[in-house]
Amino acid sequence: MMRTIAILFIAILSLSGCKEAPKPIAEANLESSEGRATLRLYTFDGGTVMVNALGFFAQDDTYKGQSKEFANAFYVVQHPDGNLMWDAGLPEALVGMDEPFTTPEGAFTVSRKDSLHHQLAKIGLTTDDFKYIALSHTHFDHVGHASALKSATWLVQEDEYKWVTGDEVRKQNPDSYNAIKDLSKIKIVNGDHDVFGDGTVVLKYMPGHTPGHQVLFLDLKKHGPVLLSGDLYHFSENREFKRIPIFNYDLEQTRRSMSLFEAFAEEKNAKVYLQHQKEDFLSMPEAPEYLK
Ligand SMILES: [Zn+2]
Repeated sequence: MMRTIAILFIAILSLSGCKEAPKPIAEANLESSEGRATLRLYTFDGGTVMVNALGFFAQDDTYKGQSKEFANAFYVVQHPDGNLMWDAGLPEALVGMDEPFTTPEGAFTVSRKDSLHHQLAKIGLTTDDFKYIALSHTHFDHVGHASALKSATWLVQEDEYKWVTGDEVRKQNPDSYNAIKDLSKIKIVNGDHDVFGDGTVVLKYMPGHTPGHQVLFLDLKKHGPVLLSGDLYHFSENREFKRIPIFNYDLEQTRRSMSLFEAFAEEKNAKVYLQHQKEDFLSMPEAPEYLK
């Protein structure tokens, strides 16, 4: 039943449109005593999800009858050894639509105001300028423009790769599969992965929301350590009360990941940004500015 709900939810999401406010750039300056070069984090607007049925986001009736607007950011990390895109927003097909798109059953209304190409141009980049792309997970609102980064190497957890390319997802949720199927340069990883080998950009394996869900740790020298949440928590109340959406893939895994996340955040004294929390999105500087 849970599986059915998850698939239904994902399928619903994949039909969506978009909506919402832009949110750009953050940069991190990593000038260590050894002379490490500058690391920059830019935040961009990948659309908006109006959740008309917030009840999906808890195991109990806490949010029954409520609605909430979600931001839907994507991020560019500039490291001296290459650029990384983290997550890929809602589908670009939504850009330019006259009205936000509401899913048939009414649970979600989605929109996207700005294209990938246009937003990257603000920092002088094109889709050919990426060494890596990594996705927190492969739900529809995180893979939107992934296929535009064909020259990048996709860093993906083995569990996520098997899941999104497996028969079940391909049948039930073809849009997620179609969004990643043209990424031909693939690096499968298992567990935490230090992207550039210097500890400044690390994929942290935090499964449960999906089989290979991950979050992103960044060591920004001036701004300090940062954690981008993926969908480990969609919004602040769920982090505070450890509430888990009904469509998560594995409840126990999710709980373990939440514990690991909180311990790691405390150990690193990391600033946590919840990617769907509108206030977190709006608190980051706009492109082409950046956090230091
Ligand atoms: Zn998700």
